Amino acid sequence: MTSNPAQNSLTEDLRSAIDASFHDTLARLKELVAIPGIAWPSFDRAPLDHSAEATAALLRTAGLAEVRVLGCDKEDGTPGGPAVVARRPARDGKPTILLYAHHDVQPAGDETLWETQPFTAVEKDGRLYGRGAADDKAGIMAHVAAYAAAAEVLGDSFGLGVTFFFEGEEEAGSPTFRTFLEANRELLRADVIVVADSSNWKVGTPALTTSLRGLVDGTIEVQVLDHAVHSGMFGGPVLDGTTLLSRLIATLHDEDGNVAVRGLVAADTAAVDLPEEDYRADASVLAGVRLAGTGSIASRLWTKPALSIIGIDAPAVDVASNTLLPRARAKFSLRLAPGQDPAEAMAAMRRHVEENAPFGAKVVFTPGESGNPFSTDTSSSAAALAMWALGEAWGVPAVETGIGGSIPFIADLTEMYPDVQILVTGVEDPDSRAHSANESLHLGDFRNAILAEALMLARLNNEGLREQARAGHGYAGS
Ligand SMILES: [Zn+2]
Repeated sequence: MTSNPAQNSLTEDLRSAIDASFHDTLARLKELVAIPGIAWPSFDRAPLDHSAEATAALLRTAGLAEVRVLGCDKEDGTPGGPAVVARRPARDGKPTILLYAHHDVQPAGDETLWETQPFTAVEKDGRLYGRGAADDKAGIMAHVAAYAAAAEVLGDSFGLGVTFFFEGEEEAGSPTFRTFLEANRELLRADVIVVADSSNWKVGTPALTTSLRGLVDGTIEVQVLDHAVHSGMFGGPVLDGTTLLSRLIATLHDEDGNVAVRGLVAADTAAVDLPEEDYRADASVLAGVRLAGTGSIASRLWTKPALSIIGIDAPAVDVASNTLLPRARAKFSLRLAPGQDPAEAMAAMRRHVEENAPFGAKVVFTPGESGNPFSTDTSSSAAALAMWALGEAWGVPAVETGIGGSIPFIADLTEMYPDVQILVTGVEDPDSRAHSANESLHLGDFRNAILAEALMLARLNNEGLREQARAGHGYAGS
C-alpha cells in the first residue's frame, strides 16, 4: 500500500528511534506506575503531587523548556488535581498540536483480586501489569516517546507547536477541568487535540474513537390524588400513582424496545459491529432474554439513543400498607446519539411525558443534567492523518469506533475551542481492565501507538493540515 520511498524511510526512521529507546520508555512507565497518585478527596494528596512532579521531570528530560505544574481550586476551596502543562511554541507558521492524557489513577480496589502488586509494574507474557499501566500512564509515555522520536528524526526542521496537557483529576470526575480551561485558554490553544485515553478495537487492530454519546436526565412525577386513601374503600374507580407512572414509563419504548420518544436523532451507521454473543457476555444478559432495539448492536450502543429508568420513589415492599399512593416519581437517564442537541432531547422528553399523561393524571417534568455528544468529523484532515498513521504503524487498516458512554471533558474542549479538531486515540485493548484488578497494557500495541503518534507529529510538521484532505485525498497513504 505504501510505495512512497520518503514515507517509507520516515516510518522506518521513527520506528528505529522508538525501538532504540523502548527499554528506557518502559522503565519510565514502570516508575510512574509505582506512584499511587489518586485524586479522590478521601486519599492522601502527597502521592498525587509526587505524580505531577515526576511527570513534569519526564517532560524536562525530553527537552521541553517550559514545564509547569498548575491547578485550580474546587468550589469548596480545596485544591483540584495538579495538571502538568509543557509547551514548545510553533515556528515557521506551523500548526500546534495538544497532547492530552491524565497522570492520576483509580484506586487499587480489592487488592486480593490482584495477581501482582497494583503499584509495582510487572511484565508478563507481552503485557505490563499495574494500576495505571494502561489508564492512563501509558498515554503519557506514548505522547512523550512519540515526541522524542519525532524531535530526534526531524532535527532542526521540527517546528511544530506541541503542548502537553496531563490532567491530575480525571478519575475523580475532572471537578476543576472547566475552570482550568477557562483560566488557561490561550496557553492550551491548539489546532489539533489528541486525547489518548480510549481503547483500540482489539489487540493488533488500531481504532480511532469517533463518537461518544451525550446524556440528559431528569425526573417524571405522576400525581393523581391529593392524599393517600384506603385501597379497599376507594380502589377501583381510580388507579394509584405507581401504576399510572408505570403505564407512562411503558410508553417510552415500542414493542421492539426502541426508544419511542419522537424527534430524537438516531443513526444506523456504525462501521464495525460487535458480535451479539460478546455483548450478551459482557453485559451479563441472562439466558432467554431477547435483546431490545433494532439495527446493529454497535449502532444501538453508539449512534442511537438509549433510555433507562434509574430510580423510582415508592414505599419499600416491607413497609407497604393498603393505600392508594397519591403520587410516584421516577428518574430517567437518556443517552444521546452524536448530532443530538441536548436541549432538544430534553424538550422531546417533556413533550412525550406530558402528551402521554395516563388517565389525565398530572405529570410534573423536572429537567436535570445535560451533556453534549461528540463526534469526530471523519472527513477532517486531522482524522484522515490519524487513520493513515494508525494503519501505517500497525500494518492493518484502522477502524472507527464509538463509545456508548460519555467523556464529559471532551464536550468542554469542543465548547471552549469550537474550531479545533479533536482525535480520541488510545493505548488500551478490550482486555486492559482499566479501573479493575489486574489492569494491563499490551506492549506490542503500545509500541505501535507510539509510532502512530510520532508519524502524526512528523507529517503534521512536514505538511501542515492539508486542506485537500477534506475532499478525501489527503493522508490516504501514498
Ligand atoms: Zn483514563
